[in-house]
Amino acid sequence: MKILFLSIILLFTANSLIAENLNKKNKVAVMYSDQFLLHDTGKNHPENPSRLLSVVEDLISNPLLKPYLIWPKFTPATTDQLQLAHTKSYIKTVELETDLLKNNSISYLSTGDTVISKQSNHVARLAVGAGIKAVDMIMSEEINSAFALVRPPGHHATASRGMGFCIYNNVAIVARHLQQQHDLKKILIVDFDVHHGNGTQDIFYEDNSVFYFSVHQHPFYPQSGRPTEKGIGKGKGFTLNVDLPKGSGNKELLNTFKNQLKPAMDKFKPEFVLVSAGFDAHEGDLLGQLNYTSTGYKQTALILKDIAEKYALGRTLYMLEGGYVAKNISQSVNEILGVLANK
Ligand SMILES: [Zn+2]
Repeated sequence: MKILFLSIILLFTANSLIAENLNKKNKVAVMYSDQFLLHDTGKNHPENPSRLLSVVEDLISNPLLKPYLIWPKFTPATTDQLQLAHTKSYIKTVELETDLLKNNSISYLSTGDTVISKQSNHVARLAVGAGIKAVDMIMSEEINSAFALVRPPGHHATASRGMGFCIYNNVAIVARHLQQQHDLKKILIVDFDVHHGNGTQDIFYEDNSVFYFSVHQHPFYPQSGRPTEKGIGKGKGFTLNVDLPKGSGNKELLNTFKNQLKPAMDKFKPEFVLVSAGFDAHEGDLLGQLNYTSTGYKQTALILKDIAEKYALGRTLYMLEGGYVAKNISQSVNEILGVLANK
């Protein structure tokens, strides 16, 4: 009788452990704050707060995803954290130029084509902070994956220069944070925004610990990202660029992931997968001229999930980059979150 009782207890404990594990595997963090809406880019700018609003509304009202999403709070990145990828003088420039602005007035960052308002420095730091909090939660095994719905985007920002709507390079700082605070050796950054992430490439161009993979439209802004750009010094072979001509769609996107990214990752074996998730390559975007659809993004997410599960214990963080039609961002983010939540 005693043995039977013990067996029942053990079975019950094992089942709850399995359930807890499954539970963790299916929970996905959405990193979002209303403060992201405060970065004011003026009337008629494609990178504006409405991009985020409808995604968040759709996610909240998606009954299939709702039980699987958590919405953690986070704080702005510190200056020390920004310095993981940016120069002290550039961080100072952003501070000074935003502080000088009056409420409700906007201007351009002196380093490039990025509109700023008084709140922009705070909001850009918060975007980085969202990524940092997400990877801290993933590394402490609270969750396996997250999607950071942030503004402004980051992948055009170099160590010393904001440009292309970007202020701080969100994914680059998060990659360095993973290495410094969590002792990871090898990080993959995948960038499927329609534009080449020149800033991210630049920051890791001589580095063999961060593999940068970008698939983008060419010729297009910012013109960099040719397949001949493969990294230099010890970073040679750790940058992989794929050009796609105007009009390319899901087929070309998926071929690239299957035939180029996958074999490269079988060699590199990343310990964490970061994604610069821009949706301006979606058909009908205001800026991009590629024709991906939300189904294409879903298929891409499945491939990335395979890579993450094979080598990185499933650890994955998506961070929003571009995408200028709110409905397209929303549909694609919903699809990707469905993949992350196994739904
Ligand atoms: Zn873009």
